[in-house]
Amino acid sequence: MIIVMQKFADKKNIEQVIKTIEQLKLKPVPLYGTERTVIAVIGDERPVDEHHISSLPGVDKVMTVLDPYKLASRETKHEDSIIDLGDNVTVGGKKIAMMAGPCAVENEDQMEKAATAVAKAGAKIMRGGAFKPRTSPYSFEGLGVAGLELLQKTAKRHGLKTVTEVMDIRDIDVVARHADILQIGTRNMQNFNLLKEVGNTKKPVLLKRGMSATVKEFLLAAEHIMKNGNPNVILCERGIRTFETETRNTLALATVPLVKHLSHLPIIVDPSHSTGRPFLVAPMIKAAIACGADGILVDVHPKPETALCDGDQAIRPEEFIQLMKELKPLAAAVNRAI
Ligand code: PEP
Ligand code: MN
Repeated sequence: MIIVMQKFADKKNIEQVIKTIEQLKLKPVPLYGTERTVIAVIGDERPVDEHHISSLPGVDKVMTVLDPYKLASRETKHEDSIIDLGDNVTVGGKKIAMMAGPCAVENEDQMEKAATAVAKAGAKIMRGGAFKPRTSPYSFEGLGVAGLELLQKTAKRHGLKTVTEVMDIRDIDVVARHADILQIGTRNMQNFNLLKEVGNTKKPVLLKRGMSATVKEFLLAAEHIMKNGNPNVILCERGIRTFETETRNTLALATVPLVKHLSHLPIIVDPSHSTGRPFLVAPMIKAAIACGADGILVDVHPKPETALCDGDQAIRPEEFIQLMKELKPLAAAVNRAI
């Protein structure tokens, strides 16, 4: 942290800042200039409230040097994190993790057809929501525990790992017992109590970017999970709200290389919730892989026209199987594997 004093700050002001820094157990190094005094602060500044310093008399501005997130930062851990789901399934590293399946778990026939396609295409992780956050209270809100059981049973039959959303602290245990990855949806990215509680488990967490969250807020949300002892965080760019109405959200793909620059955590892309349009899904998956995404979370439904949730953005099994073939050379071109 660098503290720049105002031009006319007096000795008393400077001394007060120095004392405050010392009380915070950090080392102040004042540099007395002819015009102004600058105080460099040595030590980890992250727990310090920047505004507390900037509001001291005589302080002009405060510049932080370290990323505000610590555990998620590449400054702390240089090498990429790889999240291990067991049975040779990982997220991060050379292999791109493909997660596919319906938005919501609906029934046995739907799940069986979806799982068959996911496995046939060569993906290793199946998605399917049992607890669905819905804008309208009249929409299908998921099958709850019965949906978790169906997801687990079907995925197991096809040798697939699972990812499903948890919306409520009270459901963490049951979701963790049935699924391999706990998904935190966009609407809950800053539900700090929920983040803390999934942080208390060791289960891999798929953290979706808040629809109006900055990248800094996104990484600080990951930090909440990690600070509570769970390092197994997978980030997911799922599009942000903008003025554009042609797509459901705006897919901010630059987030992928940006996050990889700032953090060691793996980041995947959801082309379905970000675009809301099936014909945009394949091109956005290709672009995501080209720019370094560690995985993809895509809605695949055996019969989108009958889906109880988000059918208008799902691709069909045959489209997914074909797409997976097309992705192989593309992944190889960027030194990755599918
Ligand atoms: C989902 O993946 O099912 C979902 C609800 O996504 P999001 O939280 O990104 O809207
Ligand atoms: Mn959905």
